[in-house]
Amino acid sequence: MGRLSPGVGQELRCRGWRQEGILRMLENTLHNAERPEDLVVYGGIGKAARDHASLDAIIAALHDLGDTETLVVQSGRPVAVMPTSLVAPRVLIANANLVPRAATREEFFRLSDAGLTMHGQYTAGSWAYIGGQGIVQGTFETFAAAAERAFGGDLRGRIVLTAGLGGMGQPQGRAVRMNGGVALIAELNRALVEQRRASGAVDEVFDDLDSAWRRAEELARAGTARVLAVTQNAADVAERLAGTGRIPAIATDQTSAHDLLNGYLPAALTFEEAGRLRLADPEAYLRRSEATVLRHVSALLSLQRQGSVVFEYGNDIRQAARRLGHEDADAIPGFVPEYIRPSFGVGRGPFRWVCLSGSIADRDRLDRAARSLFPDDARLNTWLDRAADETPIEGLPARICWLGHGQRRAMALEINRLVSTGELSGPVAITRDHLDSGSCAYPTRETEKMPDGSDVIADWPYLNAMLNVAGGADLVAIHQNAGIIGGSVSAGMTVVLDGTDVSDARARICFENDPAIGVVRHASAGVPEALAYLPGSGIRAIEVVA
Ligand code: NAD
Repeated sequence: MGRLSPGVGQELRCRGWRQEGILRMLENTLHNAERPEDLVVYGGIGKAARDHASLDAIIAALHDLGDTETLVVQSGRPVAVMPTSLVAPRVLIANANLVPRAATREEFFRLSDAGLTMHGQYTAGSWAYIGGQGIVQGTFETFAAAAERAFGGDLRGRIVLTAGLGGMGQPQGRAVRMNGGVALIAELNRALVEQRRASGAVDEVFDDLDSAWRRAEELARAGTARVLAVTQNAADVAERLAGTGRIPAIATDQTSAHDLLNGYLPAALTFEEAGRLRLADPEAYLRRSEATVLRHVSALLSLQRQGSVVFEYGNDIRQAARRLGHEDADAIPGFVPEYIRPSFGVGRGPFRWVCLSGSIADRDRLDRAARSLFPDDARLNTWLDRAADETPIEGLPARICWLGHGQRRAMALEINRLVSTGELSGPVAITRDHLDSGSCAYPTRETEKMPDGSDVIADWPYLNAMLNVAGGADLVAIHQNAGIIGGSVSAGMTVVLDGTDVSDARARICFENDPAIGVVRHASAGVPEALAYLPGSGIRAIEVVA
């Protein structure tokens, strides 16, 4: 199968813009996929549809779908078109949900091997993936916050060690570079490294660590921001640096450590040898992967003891090590409680818009709209200054901007207005990551170390999804398993704004409630930023004193 290209322009293949917009989002997700032939979008095995027959059936159903009908998708396979109403979602999706006791790795893969379910990650299975345009800002914010906290400024003159140049990993280098630092990234897949060099995500490539480190030090001394890749196993790199006292300012990891069989690569094998062993002897592969991840976490801890700022960036590497008996893995903090929670407390998260017309001028017009709506938001404006260079367009032009409660609704209504007046050349889809203020229960990441201990309470993403259905979002999805199986429940949403009054009304409700339930979730947990924000927010939260 060739790479799917998203539809662009004014011509509708569906019966309305809402259906067409969702179809373009699905096509765009697959256009940006890491392995489109397998429908794998990112995160090792995160898919957009269960199989090719399901994908064809989804596309056919979207072509036919009426304005008062809803397509129902069960783990990447369409199962029905149901009569609903004009303001109901056009697509409802549930991906990878198992009853809690059955949500084990063995059971999940037994079922997916039998063709009964699929892994949807976050934006893969809810058709909101926008390639490297997506994750860069969250990563930029995380490194900016880490640098601010640890060094009282940016990353100029600092070396940041990380690993993995997959869909989620490659933005790490860009984010370090945007913050002025030198990124050193271990990635075993040489073809991917070259691909990243061609796309500008990597500046220089090294086969051996000593040369890479020397170059990183030279660049850091000169205060030059650069991204270096080294084609070595991440565990070996971290271990050798720790063992020889070469200490990066920050060390983290973005390999697919949440999946030690399909994502993470064992030491002492080339990328190709690892692929062959995975097929020939998965058990042997897993044992070697387990040994490597234990060494990897020990090396990160050693770097931490020697002065690196070390954090986990959401790939469950600590949990993998903990499961295998590593006693100190939790000494590595997670990035959400460290750096992101204050934003989540005020409903600030990864709001993004996708220009369904395919027009870059539309994206640029929306950049200007965001600047003029929020001139005092310094972080947003700094981001917009640098974003055009660091987020090359992949598929449909898109922009992600972390916006808070209040800001999201204002931006959505402005977008719909610009569509209605013809200042934009076509409708716009607004969507977001599931990693957001009110849409996720993920006790090793988004909800790690909540102040009231409510990390594993999964009511909130369900409430979030139901609110988005009630508000008339165009697509609403509920997922399990963003990382390890059984590890999370999350919700996704997309609203297509076609400039009509109905879109205005739907945007008014959805982009109020979607972040508002996040503020309420964080206030109920006692997050200080949420408690401070709530009283003047206009959100009618109910406080029950027992
Ligand atoms: P991916 O599988 O596409 O890429 C991982 C890369 O790491 C691959 O290119 C692989 O070759 C490389 N790799 C694996 N093990 C290695 C090793 N030991 N040494 C060197 N290279 C190695 O995955 P992705 O989509 O980039 O996601 C990476 C991780 O991030 C996943 O665990 C995913 O769940 C997690 N994630 C985090 C966030 C977040 O917000 N922080 C969001 C989504 C996903």
